Amino acid sequence: MKEGNKFYSIFNFKCPKCHKGDLYPTRLSEFKKVFTMYDHCPACGQPYVIEPGFYWGAMYIAYMISSAIILTGFAFLFFAFGFDIIPSFIIIVIFTGMLYGLIFRLARSVWINLFVHYDPNRPLKKQEPKPEKDH
Ligand SMILES: [Zn+2]
Repeated sequence: MKEGNKFYSIFNFKCPKCHKGDLYPTRLSEFKKVFTMYDHCPACGQPYVIEPGFYWGAMYIAYMISSAIILTGFAFLFFAFGFDIIPSFIIIVIFTGMLYGLIFRLARSVWINLFVHYDPNRPLKKQEPKPEKDH
């Protein structure tokens, strides 16, 4: 996956407009500020909140991703490994819960990519020290 491809932006959590700036100030593996997102792209200034409540729709994406993981995981444990229904269900729900930060970020990344499209000619602004802002 290269820059310019929507999947590049979605799975690398990059700005959908320039594919350079990050969507999130921290890495998921840092386990901090998992739910914090930049207001604007740090590279090109593209706003990440297009309108108030923009990310409500991302909840449907998160719901679809979670459902897909639960159904696939459940089928896998139940049919492939022969677990009983209840243990299969408990294991997969805990597993999906542990992935919640990833699902949250992925859902927002997919969502903004539905509305904002790549523009390779978008001018990048000069890097300036960004003020830390907590949400
Ligand atoms: Zn950008």
